[in-house]
Amino acid sequence: MNMTDFDRFFLNDSEQGLKSFQHIVFETQQRLSQFYKNNSDAYTGLVPKEIEKELNALSLTSSEGDDPNTVLDDVFTKIVKNSIHVSHPTSIGHLHCPPLIPAIAAELIIGALNQSMDSWDQSSTATYLEERLIKWVSEKLALTSSTDGTFTSGGTQSNYMGLLLARDRFCDKQWGWNVKMQGLPPESHKLRILCSEDAHFTVKKSAFQLGLGEQAVVTVPTDTNKKMNTCKLTEEIERLIAAGLLPMCIVATAGTTDFGSIDPIPEVTEIAEKHGLWLHVDAAYGGALMLSQKHSHKLAGIEHADSITIDFHKQYYQPISCGAFFVKNKESFRYLAHHADYLNPENDEEDGLVHLVSKSVQTTRRFDALKLFMSLRIVGEKNFASMIDYTLNLASQAAGVMDLKDNLEVCNKNPEINAIVFRYSAGSPEKLNELNTFIYKKILHTGTALVAKTKVKDQVFLKFTLLNPRTTIVDIEDILYSISQFAAEYENRGITQ
Ligand SMILES: *Cc1c(COP(=O)(O)O)cnc(C)c1O
Repeated sequence: MNMTDFDRFFLNDSEQGLKSFQHIVFETQQRLSQFYKNNSDAYTGLVPKEIEKELNALSLTSSEGDDPNTVLDDVFTKIVKNSIHVSHPTSIGHLHCPPLIPAIAAELIIGALNQSMDSWDQSSTATYLEERLIKWVSEKLALTSSTDGTFTSGGTQSNYMGLLLARDRFCDKQWGWNVKMQGLPPESHKLRILCSEDAHFTVKKSAFQLGLGEQAVVTVPTDTNKKMNTCKLTEEIERLIAAGLLPMCIVATAGTTDFGSIDPIPEVTEIAEKHGLWLHVDAAYGGALMLSQKHSHKLAGIEHADSITIDFHKQYYQPISCGAFFVKNKESFRYLAHHADYLNPENDEEDGLVHLVSKSVQTTRRFDALKLFMSLRIVGEKNFASMIDYTLNLASQAAGVMDLKDNLEVCNKNPEINAIVFRYSAGSPEKLNELNTFIYKKILHTGTALVAKTKVKDQVFLKFTLLNPRTTIVDIEDILYSISQFAAEYENRGITQ
């Protein structure tokens, strides 16, 4: 074995290295193009067992190394074919976006460069590009100059960071207690976080990971538009205080995952300020509205938040993963900071070196900023705005069409962003859950489309999330037609309970 035998495995200046790189990228690109040219469905419709069987037939590894073409054949026939095709216009289930072409290309560069965002000496230019994009988003959101932020793996991590900072700041302020050094204070079981009943489940998940337990999360009812009821919020805060508990944070949602509803941020801000509570705005979904002149007003007040979650892998059309977290006061990041001699020694920071690990809960971290950068430059802000406006318009149009149908019950007739929650409602009430579950499975396993299933007050509902600007009202009408066909099929099966 000679050292040059390894040339072909890495990107380098050798002929072997360059040849093998160009070959696999070319072949991949060819096959992807071919696939998208011929693919007509959002999903093949296979049931989980069939997929599992096909996948288990794959050899996982090789001894001497297989030919790239053989492996690509396997990838395309066994993996790509049976994947969920998020770029398909009828793939409208979850908050799962079609990725932009420039971002797909950026992923190749991200992989090739393999920068790590933790310390400057692993990410030289990448550090500054990430910092500039953070600043750009902050300015779009009208955040003040004391703001700072970091890219994250997504909303889960950003929400976790917001609640971590809220907890540690509260303990610091209330008792001069340093959670980082001392762990949780004796009174920590009394801490409370308020959010609406439609807030994302990661609020609860973060609370238990932060040692506060799910008991720390108090959910506030929403109004008929699925927005947090602020009278109830005030009542809850007063009730908690009267019971000797310690409210420390309010989480407002700008775009709930199911309904896309936006809590009344200005009123929630006022209440948070009055009680000295940390305000975290989870704008994982709705944050993209900042790109639209027509809809950015829906985020008004977000600039007052102590911390903010934004996901770029939703309505910013970035490949997973790509998100960001912002704090109003950059000083807050001190609750996360830890100085490691090998990575971010304190005296480096004094010398002006930027080590982003000090602002993150991750250490090794991807250079995801590059894909957002390439997308903003190549797509352009105007096109981003038009795409967002189009999908919001499509959603209200679709909700209007659906609301006119006697056999559909639409939960949010005026969708605030682009999600529509509904169910097929003709038939005996006690069978509606079964009927809608049947429809959901039929849609999935006939490959008709990809829609999501959720629950509203314990009842099964279906959901369209219209992120894709290539989806048309005709696509929606076709899916609605299939839904009525599947409902008829259900009735004709004569299933009785
Ligand atoms: C998607 C979502 C999250 C979770 O974000 P991930 O990127 O999936 O980790 C949190 N909050 C809201 C409102 C979301 O829509």
